[in-house]
Amino acid sequence: MKRFCLALLTFCTLGATAFGQQQYYDYRTGIDWNEPAVVTSGETPANAPSDAIVLFDGTNLDAWEGGPWDVADGVLTVKPGSGDIATKQKFGSVQLHLEFATPPAEGEGQARGNSGLFFMNHYELQILDSFESKTYFDGQCGSLYKQFPPYVNPCKAPGQWQTYDVIFTRPILKIEGEGESAKVTEVIRPAYITALLNGVVVQNHFALAGDTFYHVPPKYQPHADKESIRLQDHGNRMQFRNIWVREIPDSNVTPVPRRLPYYADDPANQ
Ligand code: MG
Repeated sequence: MKRFCLALLTFCTLGATAFGQQQYYDYRTGIDWNEPAVVTSGETPANAPSDAIVLFDGTNLDAWEGGPWDVADGVLTVKPGSGDIATKQKFGSVQLHLEFATPPAEGEGQARGNSGLFFMNHYELQILDSFESKTYFDGQCGSLYKQFPPYVNPCKAPGQWQTYDVIFTRPILKIEGEGESAKVTEVIRPAYITALLNGVVVQNHFALAGDTFYHVPPKYQPHADKESIRLQDHGNRMQFRNIWVREIPDSNVTPVPRRLPYYADDPANQ
């Protein structure tokens, strides 16, 4: 049997050579891609990469309007009743890092350690104390508010720092009319959110059905291609630190090739 297998292997090897092995060349798309920029990552995920826009580095609220909330000892704390804060700069599709800690547990459900991270001022990724505290599942921490619960609950206890790392893709909306009479007549592409809470995936490329309202079903509302990122004052003394954002390309639309695909090392191309 052993001898037969060896003979078969020899035959096949010789056969491949005898009948000519398939010649492979180095396929290229023919697209002139731009060279990806060199970015220096932070020492830890909390540290902003070299091309990030730092929204809060522990010192001041210069990047924000609204509130104002309290800044002390490198930490931003919600001042209940002062209102939400929103970035002065407007953003479309982004990668965002943020750290938060919930205050000592008081109240239940939506009344305990509530804030919210709104992309484009419209789409809320819930921030809530969901550590051993229950509420409706599509309203707990890591949910896309009243649209989809987090896959799992990796929340930490009050006072412990927790991290959000989020990839948000802006929606593309067809809007007709202006001002008060503006209407979304077509959702060309929905907004998408992928989110890691404390390093654990809680949302994966979720297609938002529209604005994350409290009182009505989700529905897209007219807005610009770039809007503020907003943090919610929901009456609790939530803490934040290390907030940074990176603008990411708006789409993955492939450029039109300037030439047909080709084989880089095919002698016929030389
Ligand atoms: Mg909230």
